[in-house]
Amino acid sequence: MMSERVWVKDPIAVLAEGAERGVVVENGRIAELVGKGAEPAHPVHRIFDAGRHVVTPGLVNTHHHFFQTLTRAHPSAINKELFPWLQALYPIWARHVKPEAFRLATRLALTELLMSGCTCASDHQYLFPGGIEDAMDVQTEEAARVGLRMTLTRGSMDLSQKDGGLPPDSIVQDTDTILADSERILGRYHDASDGAMLQVALAPCAPFTVTKRLMVESAALAERFQCRLHTHLGETIDENDYCMAHYGYRPVDYLEEVGWLNDKVWLAHGIHFNDEEVGRLGRHGVGVCHCPTSNMVLASGQCRTKELEAAGSPVGLGVDGSASNDNSNLIEGVRHALMINRLTYDAASVTHLDAFRWATEGSARCLGRSDIGAIAVGKQADMAFFTLDELRFSGAGDPLAALVLCGAHAADRVMVAGAWKVENGLPTGIDVAALRAEHGRVAKAFLEAL
Ligand SMILES: [Zn+2]
Repeated sequence: MMSERVWVKDPIAVLAEGAERGVVVENGRIAELVGKGAEPAHPVHRIFDAGRHVVTPGLVNTHHHFFQTLTRAHPSAINKELFPWLQALYPIWARHVKPEAFRLATRLALTELLMSGCTCASDHQYLFPGGIEDAMDVQTEEAARVGLRMTLTRGSMDLSQKDGGLPPDSIVQDTDTILADSERILGRYHDASDGAMLQVALAPCAPFTVTKRLMVESAALAERFQCRLHTHLGETIDENDYCMAHYGYRPVDYLEEVGWLNDKVWLAHGIHFNDEEVGRLGRHGVGVCHCPTSNMVLASGQCRTKELEAAGSPVGLGVDGSASNDNSNLIEGVRHALMINRLTYDAASVTHLDAFRWATEGSARCLGRSDIGAIAVGKQADMAFFTLDELRFSGAGDPLAALVLCGAHAADRVMVAGAWKVENGLPTGIDVAALRAEHGRVAKAFLEAL
């Protein structure tokens, strides 16, 4: 759209205050909100008629494992909880995640996310078997190809079975290799500027897969480069039991011990915290990525979203890895968030607007970004456009509630930094049928392992 002023005019509804007649986009940003009965304050070059669309801020995904698209509904892993599920999959991933498969898995997950209305994604990439040491470089190339913003989340594991950890020895890296690559990735790709397309976060995987030294030194590196930190915490009772047995205290105490109890950190899952721990996490501004679909599939439990937010924690939303979801559909995640939270809280306490807030502003806060996550003047022009044309929406009253309650699953259009990345339901840079065929072909090897 270059420096043109484009009026996105008269949407059915828009998730923003004072934008009843739409928004004006200029230079990749939101330049103006056009209120009820108003016209843009300055002349526009073009009009995009949004009369068929319900418009939301671009959704932001704060937890995923793209490589897991290769082991969806895997017969060895279905109907298991987290620890046995991981133990079934680790050897399969170690043996079969090769360069071509990894690249296609990344492309597929990014494309799925984009088509569901997501404009910024982080991928907790913790698997670096021989041949894909350049995984983060591959992800930068694929993010550019598909057109999303990305927080490259350099994951890591350095605690294997021989040292008391859960993963097999073949799947971990040594601590110094991890730290050297983390530093390389930070130096090469981390862009802290407003409107960045790429940022970097460091993400030792979980208390039962990494050493304390890696946690402490990753935090020091993050401090030096001013980047975010991410890990899995509070996902299962098994994790709690592991921490008690190996460290002698609970996961939040572990977090404090390694110097991670601060507002540079966001956690995946954050389920099994007691009242005192919720208060402590909130006071220190630790973010939590709620992963409702995965938590239901693995029977992990229910995140205390409202208490965490009330205590001061940013709460974001994530689809989680594609072996425990088993898709990468973030608007579907918004629906699941509403539903699982209705089992935790009463109907008036958690609404579709809460679920949207987690997927937009809350997720942006988890990633430490103030330039995305809302439709407001000066923010990046990242927006998702949904139609209500499918049968499932017929008869719907409230358009924004309809996206969640009737179950929107695909955006008709998606804009990132003012440019269309999805038009008429299809990504502009990707041949979906070819991608389905190529990814399906390489994923077959993961079944032949049986
Ligand atoms: Zn995860």
